[in-house]
Amino acid sequence: MGGGKGGFDGRMFIFTAPSGAGKTTIVKHLLDNYSRLGFSVSATTRSRREHEKHGVDYYFISLTEFKERVASGDFAEWEEVYTDQCYGTLRSEIERLWSLGKHVVFDIDVKGAKNIKRIYGDKCMSVFVRPPSVHTLVERLINRQTESEESLHKRIEKVKAEMAEENSFDIILVNDRLEIAFLEARHIVDTFLEGIPQHGS
Ligand code: 5GP
Repeated sequence: MGGGKGGFDGRMFIFTAPSGAGKTTIVKHLLDNYSRLGFSVSATTRSRREHEKHGVDYYFISLTEFKERVASGDFAEWEEVYTDQCYGTLRSEIERLWSLGKHVVFDIDVKGAKNIKRIYGDKCMSVFVRPPSVHTLVERLINRQTESEESLHKRIEKVKAEMAEENSFDIILVNDRLEIAFLEARHIVDTFLEGIPQHGS
């Protein structure tokens, strides 16, 4: 966990939130605006949604392969986020990004976020994205129309538990108005990377 090759002082930004709080939108905004950041592509056993690409959004792997890789110690953290749907951060993914001179950005669930923060400590800024209210969040989840009735129900249950965890993180970012959330997210990145030389300079 040296923070990258060639003396690169690799950092991490974890964005975590209940499902539907808008963290993925915020993460995308940051990645579009900072070439110094790289997205940690997680491995998952859930099926691919139509617009998603293997190796870009996730590494889509079978449950058998996932379990084998757990046994080999390939994951920095992993969770069975929903029944039979496992998600995890591969150690090789963190090393890959650091070796490219990129600071790593995670979009992961609350438990995974706590684990990464525990492992990497001060190298890591953990941000909890808080939706304005549970009501707004449930509305967003429904409007997204990506989930079946059953999956929606599971996600709403998990939302309630995750909302109670916001104080476990370094910063709470309220996602009420997206433009303001974007500004705040950029401020978080700028502040944490202040004084860290660019890779290669
Ligand atoms: P989705 O199925 O909507 O893409 O993701 C479901 C949840 O799993 C989200 O909260 C997402 O952030 C989380 N997740 C994605 N990748 C990982 C990972 O590598 N580890 C953990 N613990 N959670 C993840």
